[in-house]
Amino acid sequence: MMCRHCLVRKGVRPRVLCGPCYYSPVRALYPVVSKYAIHGVGGSVKRPPLPEPTGAAVGSNEKIAVLAARAEAGEQLFHPKDSRRVVPESAYLVRGPRA
Ligand SMILES: [Zn+2]
Repeated sequence: MMCRHCLVRKGVRPRVLCGPCYYSPVRALYPVVSKYAIHGVGGSVKRPPLPEPTGAAVGSNEKIAVLAARAEAGEQLFHPKDSRRVVPESAYLVRGPRA
């Protein structure tokens, strides 16, 4: 693939620009296109806002409701300070009739 700016030299990831173009001010005109790039503050892809952390246990109906509300609000689904407490296995296992 050729450089996206000068179309003369070979362009390389993450912006598909050649070396001289990459190290010139035109670099700011071309966002990162690599799917492996680190995005976020200062990156080219904006992440949704962080939600408030929740104390709902992982796997609980309460946590599922929290995730649905976050998705509805356009927020990230998980917060680093969300509770990591897990619902005990017995709480969600569907037990069949005993033989
Ligand atoms: Zn170039």
